[in-house]
Amino acid sequence: MSVKGKTVIITGSNSGIGLGIAREMARAGAHVVLNSFTDSADDHKLAADMASEFDTDVRYIQADMSKGEQCRALIETAGACDILINNAGIQHVAPIDGFPTEKWDAIIAINLNSAFHTTAAALPMMRKAGWGRVVNIASAHGLTASPFKSAYVAAKHGIVGFTKVTALETAQEPITANAICPGYVLTPLVEAQIPDTMEKYEMSREDVIKKVMLERQPSKEFATVEQLGGTALFLCSDAAAQITGTTISVDGGWTAL
Ligand code: NAD
Repeated sequence: MSVKGKTVIITGSNSGIGLGIAREMARAGAHVVLNSFTDSADDHKLAADMASEFDTDVRYIQADMSKGEQCRALIETAGACDILINNAGIQHVAPIDGFPTEKWDAIIAINLNSAFHTTAAALPMMRKAGWGRVVNIASAHGLTASPFKSAYVAAKHGIVGFTKVTALETAQEPITANAICPGYVLTPLVEAQIPDTMEKYEMSREDVIKKVMLERQPSKEFATVEQLGGTALFLCSDAAAQITGTTISVDGGWTAL
């Protein structure tokens, strides 16, 4: 079974990891649904450009993953969902006693609750099609913790638990559910922080990456969005048909420490 001709919906996929996974899926011939909460000309152009680059069907569907009904509407509007990649996510860093309630609520809604709603809407479609893959983008913070990231760590541990339940409820069907746990990934967002950090610490680019950003990543290298796309493709392959309810770390050894 290849992903060619399969419909893949990737939440939060107009940048970063989601976009990287979308590109690898399109390269492999999947029909891709891109998503974010915005609805700009750039969003639709991104889909059109990807469709012509990879000669496959690519659509952009606006839906705000902080709202349950919009999560479900994304799946319904797409009309099919063979592969669901729950990727949308945000971060906020603050100590627990100063953590803004609205930030806590937004992180739990986007990083965790959205996966419940999209999965609930997608499973009947997968069952009807007789095949399905759920791939949740968790984090090394789904398996370990860091101070000041309470909501993010809670949501990412939550998504790992939710992945296990999804796997158990589909265990006797041709559907699998797994979580990918990336360490630090070189997304445009991360790249943009490098010049400021170089100035702040008066360090070279190399030192900022190795000593500041990748302090906890033993490989001292970022994971790439292409590697995450490749991991998602592997989870959709026949070789991975008996891999369900588990996590795959793409973290340069972070969780081995
Ligand atoms: P990013 O900011 O580049 O991408 C986040 C995506 O989510 C964007 O497309 C954004 O538009 C979308 N999004 C945000 N709020 C949304 C909403 N309300 N509705 C719909 N879409 C929304 O960040 P990224 O680094 O690519 O992160 C993607 C996922 O990977 C997140 O779940 C993040 O927690 C996880 N992750 C990232 C890293 C890393 O180092 N970059 C490491 C581990 C896990």
